[in-house]
Amino acid sequence: MMSEIPNCPECSSTYTYEDGMLLICPECSHEWPKESEASNNDDNEQVKDSNGNVLNDGDTVAIIKDLKVKGSSSVLKIGTKVKNIRLVDGDHNIDCKIDGFGAMKLKSEFVKKV
Ligand SMILES: [Zn+2]
Repeated sequence: MMSEIPNCPECSSTYTYEDGMLLICPECSHEWPKESEASNNDDNEQVKDSNGNVLNDGDTVAIIKDLKVKGSSSVLKIGTKVKNIRLVDGDHNIDCKIDGFGAMKLKSEFVKKV
């Protein structure tokens, strides 16, 4: 099946052709960018928990292994619930506040959605 090329938006010519990312009209020399379906893809990387479930802002998660807290001797115990997470960019992709610990960042691979 041939891909459908739209008519020229300037002169309505049907002799338009593709050239890379452009569409070109040979009759009036109009050039315009091809609307590729790829550009409509949602390229936001989804953050997933240890089970592969997609996490969203505001979710509640539980810690799946004991985690040492940076700069303190405290340990976040397995099963600790973390409410109202916020997804952020970076290595530690979950921003949250934990009762008794305060604000901290977690890695999504060490939590699961509850
Ligand atoms: Zn044209």
